Amino acid sequence: MTRSVTVRVPAKVNVQLAVGAARPDGFHDLANVFLAVGMYDEVTATPADALRVTCSGPDAGLVPLDATNLAARAAIALAERHGIAPDVHLHIAKDIPVAGGMAGGSADGAAALLACDALWGTGAGREELLALCAELGSDVPFSLTGGAALGVGRGERLTPAEVGGTFHWVFAVADGGLSTPAVYGEFDRLTAGTQVPEPTASAALLAALRTGDTAALADALSNDLQAAALSLRPSLADTLAAGTAAGALAALVSGSGPTTAFLTDGEESARKVADALLTSGTCRDARVATSPAAGATVL
Ligand code: ATP
Repeated sequence: MTRSVTVRVPAKVNVQLAVGAARPDGFHDLANVFLAVGMYDEVTATPADALRVTCSGPDAGLVPLDATNLAARAAIALAERHGIAPDVHLHIAKDIPVAGGMAGGSADGAAALLACDALWGTGAGREELLALCAELGSDVPFSLTGGAALGVGRGERLTPAEVGGTFHWVFAVADGGLSTPAVYGEFDRLTAGTQVPEPTASAALLAALRTGDTAALADALSNDLQAAALSLRPSLADTLAAGTAAGALAALVSGSGPTTAFLTDGEESARKVADALLTSGTCRDARVATSPAAGATVL
């Protein structure tokens, strides 16, 4: 009988994204506070004759199915480490917007790693999995851990952050994606010749997460990539304005965008903001979700 392993993995929103000046290697030092949101992809690993990736869901056509897919790269990395062949069929049931700044690809990488480890019995410990995740990309370790965490360095060196309540979000999905490197490039262009401050985590923001204080979190949200994302996609300002007008406590671009995130004071206002965003015509879809969410989990 063919055994399969399915892993469920959440999307993320950056509740703080402080970006330092470009380093000589081109990367930026970050103070990146990740919060996992209850919007999920599922990755199913099944034994196969060769590595194969398939994808289903409304955005499936935008997902590469070759070896550049982060799920495939994760399987290859784990197999190489253990001297086995990465012969596995990875099916991605995709619900996280693609190229939306919600770390969907990173989520699939973390999920594939966990699924293949369980399927192959490679018995990678937490540390090994986290190290493999960090090799795959800066956002991948957080997809494994979920909850909330402060990431420093390129964002991959994580310290868990405590979350003392439930936060109600609306995410407005934009038409088309934004390339993360292009947004960082625009950040560099916009900040050229200026003194970019060292990125530091906001104590007020971490306290708001810890106490579950929605109003305080709304005041503390920040994203240093927002100006760059708006510069590349000026129409996002209309989306932010539509959600704020409908009663969101705060609005910001999620990560490198173009998904925009709206913090609301409860389930009812979240639904109201989502409805208003949908009728505003400023986004392709509006999704309600709560935080925090658990990290990658074998189902
Ligand atoms: P981040 O928030 O980490 O910057 P993102 O949410 O903006 O990421 P992704 O959805 O991860 O963006 O996709 C970025 C690009 O990565 C896609 O355009 C696609 O070409 C590629 N990609 C590789 N693997 C995947 C995957 N499993 N799912 C989606 N995109 C993938």
